[in-house]
Amino acid sequence: MSNTAGKVIKCKAAVAWEAGKPLVIEEVEVAPPQKHEVRLKILFNALCHTDVYFWEAKGQKPLFPRILGHEASGIVESVGEGVTELKPGDHVLPVFTGECKECTHCKSEESNLCELLRINTDRGTMLNDGKTRFSKDGKPIYHFVGTSTFSQYTVSHVGSVVKINPAAPLDKVCVLSCGVCTGFGATVNVAKPKKGSSVAIFGLGAVGLAAAEGARVSGASRIIGVDLNSNRFEAAKKFGVSEFVNPKDHNKPVQEVIAEMTNGGVDRSVECTGSIDAMISAFECVHDGWGVAVLVGVPKIDYEFKTHPMNFLNERTLKGAFYGKYKPRTDLPGVVEKYMNKEMEVDKFITHSVPLSEINKAFEYMRLGEGIRCLICMDQ
Ligand code: NAD
Ligand code: ZN
Repeated sequence: MSNTAGKVIKCKAAVAWEAGKPLVIEEVEVAPPQKHEVRLKILFNALCHTDVYFWEAKGQKPLFPRILGHEASGIVESVGEGVTELKPGDHVLPVFTGECKECTHCKSEESNLCELLRINTDRGTMLNDGKTRFSKDGKPIYHFVGTSTFSQYTVSHVGSVVKINPAAPLDKVCVLSCGVCTGFGATVNVAKPKKGSSVAIFGLGAVGLAAAEGARVSGASRIIGVDLNSNRFEAAKKFGVSEFVNPKDHNKPVQEVIAEMTNGGVDRSVECTGSIDAMISAFECVHDGWGVAVLVGVPKIDYEFKTHPMNFLNERTLKGAFYGKYKPRTDLPGVVEKYMNKEMEVDKFITHSVPLSEINKAFEYMRLGEGIRCLICMDQ
């Protein structure tokens, strides 16, 4: 038992007080975990686009003050009533989309969309009592996607916390809790390219580069990267991307350019942009007879996917993948093992590092499109 168990912990957190305003490092109070909850000491975060999106709060319901953060790693400090799977000292990855292990989705082999703990960006409180565990001078501060990892201590539902190998370096595997698993899993679990096949990756941000890494470890012989920003091409070479297409350099649709490059189309494509044009191109650029396209990017609310039905009759398949089709608690420990056994590379995703006190710099790097992932060291 830690000597803080059952007590309120005071610690530093980066609080988003208002949409788009720099985060402020505050001393906050973190209440003990309740039934089916655990309190975590967070050691590392990596900044993901979703944090920036909800901080900007354009186009969704603003909820402030809030503690953002979800791509992270840490250690269990204490556990609440009824928690048997985790104990103080366990090394963990918090996840924004959980796995209760009891609902129809969790019981189905085919789904990872848990009914109870599936991502919910509108909820700012705990499921147990509808209240927050964070406060500042007695005033509540809202949670974010069940993780709120921009705090040195946080409280999560036990179903949103994954126990991992304690030998895994927490400053590296934190990126597996969101972006890297999303892209890597979309390729290896859903697109499933065969050895020697060709794969097109649309969007070369962290998610697309992870999808490329999935193609590389699957033994794809051609990985074609598509991005509107040619600056992304140099970094993508480290992820096995060998050919590049910038749609802006061509006066015909990119699916036609890719069909010409590959004698009729690629075997697999993975879309990681959130752009409707890229989604349609990703589908239409796969080979007839066997091609499979997987959509990963989150579309705007009013998008509609339009393609000729003949594209399906000609035996092209369109799929979508949420969180790389991984069941977080069941599958993530195995992904960590893959990294430990050097079957996949993770270190190359982390290009920058800042202490918690300079977290706003990480937001600036992302805004400028500089680097891939910026690590935030929580104890500095
Ligand atoms: P990012 O912004 O770092 O990268 C996106 C890249 O796509 C950029 O380099 C951009 O230049 C490029 N791009 C945009 N429009 C394009 C187009 N029409 N054609 C070619 N390239 C284009 O983003 P990221 O963090 O890598 O995330 C990628 C997407 O994945 C986002 O939409 C994000 O919301 C989504 N995502 C999905 C899940 C899931 O579970 N399905 C989880 C996390 C993130
Ligand atoms: Zn469930």
